[in-house]
Amino acid sequence: MHFKGYRCQSCNIDFSIEPKPTEGIVCPQCGTKKVNPVEYHEDTINILELSKYKITDPKQPSNKKTRVEKIEGDKFSYGRQKYVKLTRIIQRDKNRYYEKVQDPDTGEIIREVDEPLSEHINRGSAKKNSQSAS
Ligand SMILES: [Zn+2]
Repeated sequence: MHFKGYRCQSCNIDFSIEPKPTEGIVCPQCGTKKVNPVEYHEDTINILELSKYKITDPKQPSNKKTRVEKIEGDKFSYGRQKYVKLTRIIQRDKNRYYEKVQDPDTGEIIREVDEPLSEHINRGSAKKNSQSAS
């Protein structure tokens, strides 16, 4: 999958905003409108994304490029047979992984995780499989 996003000319970060705002693109970090479109490969995330926000540092190696990632969207819950609201925040610099799954109808929190990112990666590495088909 291609990353299609923008690079800020002043703070030199990459970010993506989906859906694309109609008002024009501004940098989420400094607010400038001097941003250029960029495009490169990234790993596929297997959820239906409604909103994705990401700060990447191009100076880092590719597996550490993403510094902050926030995803808000709908994820299909097989247990409940319907779409539920997913919020996921990854702050690499703060070693934090946060995930919340909420029932949009009742407001019930189905799952909430707030843990060090390093622990989350260690636990999930066993089932890490590449999903290059998109
Ligand atoms: Zn900026």
